[in-house]
Amino acid sequence: MEFSSRARLRHARLAGDRREQYPHSLQFYLEPPVESISLVEFESFAVDRLKLLKVVENLGVNHVRGTDVYKAKLEVELRKLKFPYRALAEGDYEARRKDHISHFILRLAYCQSEDLRRWFLQQEMDLFRYRFNELTENLMQKFLEHVNLSFEAIGEDLKNELANELSTSTPGFTLAKVKEQTFYKVGLADAVDLFRARKVFIKDGFAFVPFKEIDVIVLSNYRTKLSKALALTARSLPSIQSDERLQPLLNHLSHSYLGPDYSIQKNTGKISLEQIDTLSVKSFPLCMRQLHRALRDSHHLRHGGRMQYGLFLKGIGLTLEQALEFWKKEFIRGKVDADKFDKGYAYSIRHSYGKEGKRTDYTPYSCMKIIMSNPPSQGDYHGCPFRHSDPELLKQKLQSYKISPSGITQVLELVKGMHCQLACQKFFELTHDVDDIGFSLNHPNQYFTESQKLLNGGRELKKEFNNSGNFQQKNNSQESINSSSTPTSSNEKADTELEGLEAYFTED
Ligand code: SF4
Repeated sequence: MEFSSRARLRHARLAGDRREQYPHSLQFYLEPPVESISLVEFESFAVDRLKLLKVVENLGVNHVRGTDVYKAKLEVELRKLKFPYRALAEGDYEARRKDHISHFILRLAYCQSEDLRRWFLQQEMDLFRYRFNELTENLMQKFLEHVNLSFEAIGEDLKNELANELSTSTPGFTLAKVKEQTFYKVGLADAVDLFRARKVFIKDGFAFVPFKEIDVIVLSNYRTKLSKALALTARSLPSIQSDERLQPLLNHLSHSYLGPDYSIQKNTGKISLEQIDTLSVKSFPLCMRQLHRALRDSHHLRHGGRMQYGLFLKGIGLTLEQALEFWKKEFIRGKVDADKFDKGYAYSIRHSYGKEGKRTDYTPYSCMKIIMSNPPSQGDYHGCPFRHSDPELLKQKLQSYKISPSGITQVLELVKGMHCQLACQKFFELTHDVDDIGFSLNHPNQYFTESQKLLNGGRELKKEFNNSGNFQQKNNSQESINSSSTPTSSNEKADTELEGLEAYFTED
């Protein structure tokens, strides 16, 4: 009896201790996790949160935040990825733990540049806003107390005394509504956003905030904390970068792409060289259409362009022989003679098909890789036009593609908000005359596949890209974790090697 009761006690205490870390389904993520986790869990948590944040980004652009559709879609995703989704859920310890740990992993991955920090902050804020507003009033109060943000609710006497002022200074509040709602007395420093927007009554250095606006204060507090934390984390980057296991993985995450890698071309050989001009207009994303045009016009592309475009063409199904013929025909129309091509450029093309050197079979670049690495300089045509083009030039280009003025405005708005891939999705919708693209764009070859599917009634996709080279699927073991970080680094190494070879054989 004694033994079993001691055992029961020990068990209860252990479980209690762990659960105490997460008294609420919502967190401000103030304390980093201290437990040890396996690399497998580390990666799978990070990938799931990244998927979630990408959905948050997509929903934020395609739907009005806080609407029923927005909320319903986000809840589906939270459920699917096993993050906390119901405010009152009791047994969601695992989900809370995943939420906590995954936030901190992405914080590490996304503190590395200003752009990454901004993106991460925006998505985390949107996610937090949704989750906070899903809490019941009682849970909100508890959460606010927990994060030391409890505000003093004003008593009925004071509320009656200030009723007229509260009603006139709080938009949408009639006298009757003032009577219904709880108002909080908040220090001005905490209510700056509401004060600026003239949404609250101010008296004696305090803002009188109705309950329905309390999220603005909580969010502004969260934003301040998270941006400071990101800046601090960025300062500790040198020590993270020296960790050989972690750094490639974090780099991979911040540039990550979660879909098929288009390394297996079921469509190989099914596209003829004569089709490329037409396909470039109908089904190439803007980045590849731009490269194709530049190649046709100047009969040359510099290294970055050859890599980006060459691998894309490989991904849509060009065989090595076709690629050699395609590039040679074009280059010898310019300043390169056949002999020079065969000695230099041909080698690098064979190399990119895994037929030379270390025989690495290079995969086409994802949007994140194109957007985040190797920005184009003068005379380059690679990169992502939604990220790297001057907005005025982009506008002219869109006009030349006969995009409607309202369509151009929508694309440019997204570009302004740094939503390059969403701008590209919008471009897809406008050029394919569909209202909703129906997928989340992450890869130029995905753009091509989806376009062909749409234009050919789904036939191309089945033939073409039935591969499952999914980042997550590839990495469900310890070994594969290591290999998941290796592709990035080995690709980078191989890129460097290829560049070295090119420098040896050819000028740019
Ligand atoms: Fe290309 Fe991706 Fe940019 Fe679209 S978003 S233009 S597919 S890099």
